[in-house]
Amino acid sequence: MTEDRLNTTGYNQIEDEDIELKLRPARFDEYIGQEKIKENMQVFVQAALNRGETLDHVLLYGQPGLGKTTLSSIIAGAMNARLRITAGPAIERPGDMAAILNDLNEGDFLFIDEIHRLNRNIEEILYSAMEDFVLDIVIGKGPGARSIRLELPRFTLVGATTRIGLLTAPLRDRFGVVHHLEPYKVEELSTIVTRSAKVLDVGMTPEGAKEIARRARGTPRIANRLLKRVRDFAQVQYDGNVTGDVAKSSLDRLDIDPVGLDSVDKKILWAIIEKFGGGPVGLDTLAASIDEEAGTIEDVAEPYLLQLGFIQRTPRGRTVTRLGYNHLGLRPPITHITPHEEQLNLYESK
Ligand code: ADP
Repeated sequence: MTEDRLNTTGYNQIEDEDIELKLRPARFDEYIGQEKIKENMQVFVQAALNRGETLDHVLLYGQPGLGKTTLSSIIAGAMNARLRITAGPAIERPGDMAAILNDLNEGDFLFIDEIHRLNRNIEEILYSAMEDFVLDIVIGKGPGARSIRLELPRFTLVGATTRIGLLTAPLRDRFGVVHHLEPYKVEELSTIVTRSAKVLDVGMTPEGAKEIARRARGTPRIANRLLKRVRDFAQVQYDGNVTGDVAKSSLDRLDIDPVGLDSVDKKILWAIIEKFGGGPVGLDTLAASIDEEAGTIEDVAEPYLLQLGFIQRTPRGRTVTRLGYNHLGLRPPITHITPHEEQLNLYESK
């Protein structure tokens, strides 16, 4: 398989690309976790190969860094196909989309990251391309404009998104396979960082791996990023080995707490508690109060705080839960005690 990152403007190349590429699993057996998705995809790949057909279009959704790009490149590899990579925001005009599609060969995979960010008029080009493998383009303007239809080779579109809800129904319906990637378990992340440490030639104990895994917010990309930083501390201030203690003290110094909260997450929790009486507070008001982008809060911080059960989303805004108060070492106000918990308290005090 060859992999081409399309050189369309505006698409940020991932940081530390060399290391990223080295750490990125190339085969299904190196891709840890997401077992059901992996099993299903392997069946679909085998079936398509047996029939000598291309794979149906695939939509992958889930938080950034959960392995959508990696999985796509593994699937393309298993199909012996070329993978072309681009992203929604990089495709600015319908002509860009038409050019990308026109450049595809039979069996190619086209990966579009952040597909929910495609403009509607660009998205519409995809409808007939995905369904009938044709490209309808309008030439000229005004009354003299005419439409021509170009045949496209059969290709597989892999769309990736962090926000399935923002996808239009016509686009969503054109994907034959839709998979939701879930956050990873600590054990799975431990396995991932252990493999990454081997690739990077860093000594690491199981405790070291576990400590990094626990603070990686269920996300392989974050686990690998933390490993790289802990490796720096291990090599400069210790003997180069990542033990549990080395990982712990390095991550503490990076302001990543034992469950993986960073300074922004903490700022959010403290702001809701101190400035808004524990909530509810609307997203924009909260964002303005801590000088962060609403989008960053919604896409990066909030999903993990929700997953930990530290905040809740109510129709009137975000509130900090009892667990959230407890995590900061605070006692929740009395209004946070639900009737069920009151009963437990009565029961416990007897
Ligand atoms: P996304 O496309 O969802 O943002 P990526 O596919 O770019 O995420 O994954 C980020 C990095 O995390 C990859 O480079 C890879 O090193 C690692 N990674 C992701 N998923 C897995 C996995 N299931 N097993 C091992 N490593 C993984």
